Amino acid sequence: MTKGTSSFGKRGKGKTHIRCRRCGRHSYNVTKKYCAACGYGRSRRMRNYRWVRPYHRRYR
Ligand SMILES: [Zn+2]
Repeated sequence: MTKGTSSFGKRGKGKTHIRCRRCGRHSYNVTKKYCAACGYGRSRRMRNYRWVRPYHRRYR
């Protein structure tokens, strides 16, 4: 009857992240009202951490 495990149950229950206006990534949290990627809505400055650099160097 079920496809996949029960952890799939959360799928399709509203969206947590939408496309961010500032960074254009799908990281703007609707409930928290800020972007998880760039910090839009939380702070005026871009969210920038040393530790993300190796991973996101290729992206804008
Ligand atoms: Zn953003």
